[in-house]
Order: sequence, then structure tokens, then C-alpha cells
Amino acid sequence: MLAKVALVTGSSRGIGRAIALELATQGLQVVINYAQSAAQAQQVVDLIQAGPGKAVAIQADVADPAQVEQLFSQTLAQWGRLDVLVNNAGITRDGLTIRMKDDDWRKVLDLNLGGVFWCCRQASKIMLKQRAGRIINIASSSGLMGNAGQANYAAAKAGVLGLTKSLARELASRGITVNAVAPGFIATEMTQALNHDAILAMVPLGRLGQPEEVAGLVRYLACDPSAAFITGQVLSMDGGLVM
Ligand code: NAP
Repeated sequence: MLAKVALVTGSSRGIGRAIALELATQGLQVVINYAQSAAQAQQVVDLIQAGPGKAVAIQADVADPAQVEQLFSQTLAQWGRLDVLVNNAGITRDGLTIRMKDDDWRKVLDLNLGGVFWCCRQASKIMLKQRAGRIINIASSSGLMGNAGQANYAAAKAGVLGLTKSLARELASRGITVNAVAPGFIATEMTQALNHDAILAMVPLGRLGQPEEVAGLVRYLACDPSAAFITGQVLSMDGGLVM
């Protein structure tokens, strides 16, 4: 049987990197997508290929539909199939709504919601033909609760939840599942500049999550046979922040 293939957007750093490494341990061949961090993406490839795993780094700005098309055609040229898509690439451009620049609104929506849509559209075409596949979208607790100073980010992440449920309904008859994972505060570059005391006061488990913990949940949704009966769901991974 052909080895399965996973594409993880934004997997040069942070949560995406942990997801790519975790999926490689399950025997999947992994596409490491990045926008700018070429050296870090190559490090992830090297780490995977130091073991029995296979990986390739592909540069593409997933906020740009033309580059997304290239990303998927390069993936097919490399391995001929796609079994798992993890839409992880994301950015923040925080600011109160009254001061938010048009560009900060557009950039966050274009990547965090548009990018998920462009990638889902490409993956759906491939997975419908294969009559199999698993799509996991990385949302956020901000998309469930809202967050002052993150109107752009929360709107995009809430949009991802509507997209996830709609696509889950569109693809279910072919056995393709589409789910979202909503992390709370996870220790990555994205949360480095935040006030950790203020964060910890909100989190019942009293700590930040680790990228590897999010990766474990994604591995379950992407690889476990029993996850075949889970679709259209939003699973929180947040130390009890949202309950
Ligand atoms: P991060 O450490 O800032 O890493 C972001 C990743 O996205 C990098 O690999 C980056 O690659 C990539 N990326 C950025 N712009 C891109 C673009 N236009 N096209 C392709 N890739 C791009 O972020 P993180 O904390 O791991 O977050 C990962 C996901 O989890 C995001 O969707 C985020 O919203 C979500 N999330 C994070 C937290 C948290 O607490 N950290 C909480 C909830 C949800 P380059 O360096 O090459 O640009």
C-alpha cells in the first residue's frame, strides 16, 4: 500500500512544526509548508529524514490562491496523493477595533480564513477522487469566546468554524472528515509577547499548553481509525479556558 501523505500549512515553526513531526512518527510523508522561514522548514525536513520518515519543504504564501494551487500541484507531483490536510498557518495583528488599520483586518482575514478556504478547496478535489481524507483546521478559543483587541483574528477563526461544519456536510458522503481544533494559549512565538500572569489567571489548569499536546489531538483526528466517525466538530485544547 502507498504511504499516506499529509500537508501541514505553516509547519516551519510552533504548533505546525509539532504537528508535522508527530504525523511523521505515524508513517505519513509530510509536506512542510512555510512562507518565509526556509531554514527552519528545512530543519523540520532534516529532523524527519534523520529517522525513517519522509518530508519535503514547499514555500507558498497560503493567503494567495495562485500559490496555494502551486502548493497542491507540487504535493501531487511529489507523492501523487493527499490523505491529510492540516490548515495551521496563521497570524495575529492585534489592536482595538477603533484603531485597527484596514490592512490588519485584511491580512488576518486573507490568511486565517481565506487561506483555510483556498487549501480546503484544493484538498477537497483530490480527496473526493480518492473517496477518503481527513481535514483538520486549527481555529482558536478566540473564535469561540471573542477577545478584546482581536476582532480580526476572532472573526477569522469563528469563520473557520462555519467553514469546517459546511465542508464536513459537503464531503461526508465520500467518507471524508473535516474537524476543527481550537487551542487556547499555547507556548509558541505567537504568545511570547503576551502577559503570562494575566493568561494563567484565566486558565483553570493554570499553565500554557505545549505544541506537542495540540499535535497529539491532531494525530488522533488524522490517523486514528476511531476518528473516522468524528466530523464537523470543534475540539478545544485549552486547559479549560472555554467550558
Ligand atoms: P507561529 O509560531 O507564529 O507560527 C506560524 C506559522 O505559520 C509559521 O510556520 C509561519 O511560517 C506560518 N505562516 C505565516 N504566514 C504564512 C503564510 N502566509 N503562508 C504560509 N505559512 C505562513 O504560530 P503558532 O502559535 O504555531 O500558531 C499556529 C496556528 O495555531 C495558527 O493558526 C494560530 O492562529 C493557531 N493558534 C495558536 C495559539 C497559540 O497560543 N499559539 C492559540 C490558538 C490558535 P513562516 O515563518 O515561514 O512565515
